Amino acid sequence: METKKKDIRALTKEQLRRFFVDQGDKAFRGNQVYEWLWQKSAHSFDVMTNLSKETRRLLEGNFVINHIHVDQMQRSKDGTIKNAVRLHDGLVVESVLIPTANRTTACVSSQVGCSLDCKFCATARLKRMRNLNPDEIYDQVVAIDNESRLYFDRPLSNIVFMGMGEPLMNYNNVLKAIDKITSPAGLGMSPKRITVSTSGVPKMIKKIADDGVKFKLAVSLHSAIDEIRTSIMPFNATFTLLDLREALQYWYNKTKSRITYEYVVWEGINDTKRDVDALVDFCKFAPSKVNLIEYNPIDDGQFQQATKGALDQYVSTLEENGIVVTVRRSRGKDIDAACGQLANKH
Ligand code: SAH
Repeated sequence: METKKKDIRALTKEQLRRFFVDQGDKAFRGNQVYEWLWQKSAHSFDVMTNLSKETRRLLEGNFVINHIHVDQMQRSKDGTIKNAVRLHDGLVVESVLIPTANRTTACVSSQVGCSLDCKFCATARLKRMRNLNPDEIYDQVVAIDNESRLYFDRPLSNIVFMGMGEPLMNYNNVLKAIDKITSPAGLGMSPKRITVSTSGVPKMIKKIADDGVKFKLAVSLHSAIDEIRTSIMPFNATFTLLDLREALQYWYNKTKSRITYEYVVWEGINDTKRDVDALVDFCKFAPSKVNLIEYNPIDDGQFQQATKGALDQYVSTLEENGIVVTVRRSRGKDIDAACGQLANKH
């Protein structure tokens, strides 16, 4: 019977170096293998041509490379690409390539499904199966970088953790993946081009601040009134707006970086002046930006995009109060690739 081989990418560079030393070889081999695994994204040991046949066989005998597999790629009319990504255990997540005039953004998943229960989000209907490993997050980014080079003739420029899952509930692995993405031994991208989007887990927001990490933070707020937020994002009963604001204040005091809020305006839910005023009040303590995102229907009709008038009221009131505001149009709706639509429906 074959014993279960270890996923080689779960090893640090130091552990890889040690493996070779333990085998009576040079520690430097570890560096070579590490470079193949991360910088060159090798899918097999065979391609590691600067290693001897014996070394490659040794690796094969001890390890596997659990690379993701893009099962299906769908292209939207607007150029957006959605990848259905199969993991080594057969589970599937989705990631999205979003092209604009001069950028390519990768929207990646951090968990299979999601444990939160936002009423307006399709991913919430898939129960959380497991966290993604750092290499599974990294591979999604590499796949999109390759597609960007192939179809748009340029490398990936930005990454948003806005796919499936709550990144701050898989914080350690997200951080390890970002480490690889930003390190020269990986993709060498600037952390300023990476945004982690959270539904707002106060304890973890404070931890990010303490850890001094450099990526940007976006918070999915959707309402600054507790009872309304709890009705659409039930975990708000546990992580209340007061706790969230206190954590964000802590984060701002440490990082001095602007906070971005994501916000959808729905008819009859959060489209009154009282909702706008509560948002202005919530944002006041730090420089803020509000992204008003278009609602992407997920079928049952409970939620409807608010009227243009309601949106205008948000825009003008926020601007009057010195809060930066943008109105975002959805991308990739025709292939269910827009925010909140990722539900493995292909
Ligand atoms: N769990 C993280 C990241 C995933 S969701 C978070 O909550 O931030 C990415 C963004 O899409 C969030 O702002 C989320 O609130 C928003 N979203 C979810 N469902 C949506 C929908 N149907 N239409 C528009 N935006 C949606």
